[in-house]
Amino acid sequence: QSVKLVAGNWKMNGLGASLGEAEALAKALQEQAAACRVALCPPATLIDRMARVLADTPVELGGQDCHAEASGAFTGSVSAAMVADAGADLVILGHSERRAGFGETDADVAAKVEAALAAGLEPIICIGETLAEREAGQAIAVVSRQVAGSLPPSLSGKAFAVAYEPVWAIGTGLTPTLEQIEEVHAAVRAAMVAKLGEGGRVAPILYGGSVKPSNAAEILAVADVGGALVGGASLKAEDFLGIIRAV
Ligand code: 13P
Repeated sequence: QSVKLVAGNWKMNGLGASLGEAEALAKALQEQAAACRVALCPPATLIDRMARVLADTPVELGGQDCHAEASGAFTGSVSAAMVADAGADLVILGHSERRAGFGETDADVAAKVEAALAAGLEPIICIGETLAEREAGQAIAVVSRQVAGSLPPSLSGKAFAVAYEPVWAIGTGLTPTLEQIEEVHAAVRAAMVAKLGEGGRVAPILYGGSVKPSNAAEILAVADVGGALVGGASLKAEDFLGIIRAV
């Protein structure tokens, strides 16, 4: 299995003053190395400045989205090459907040993944069912369909991650049971292999949704949980370190 990845998604939080948290995180990990890869994904406006703060530290840097097109008349958007040029190595794509709030489809996400790969970025592709879908017994069907539609064949052999984030667990303090996480991750793995063949076997499947220091160890120990995608608890270096130390 590949080394675990713990990534922090700052969402639309953080101004220049927040760079101190990135600095504190990097300093702690330089003093005591993490047992996993660690990444921070700040708002696009902070990527460049954060890249300077994190240069020569073990903390990797990611964006939260990119446009599928390489350039052009797309006011307000940022291309994958721009995210990479600003200093990011990774990019979160297809987060449920973008699927729900900006109408992104699986096909849109797959196109963004292609753009990210072309720019040399490692995509973190998000999937996850809503509460209504889970209550209707559709969770496995939904995530399997999202994997099939959001992962382009060109991912085979490339570095990438999938993040399973049940929509109802995001920012709510609710988490699935460990059995539910194991069941979904197994289904996601099967869908990745069905789509990519052997290329779907190695990429880590992260869990995301209300991960915090107190539940990280048990979640990260579940079969085929290859790391965590952390929202709220990644904003403070101390909380995020608590999760990283749980690996
Ligand atoms: P929370 O950790 O705040 O629940 O957010 C999870 C998430 O959406 C990460 O992408």
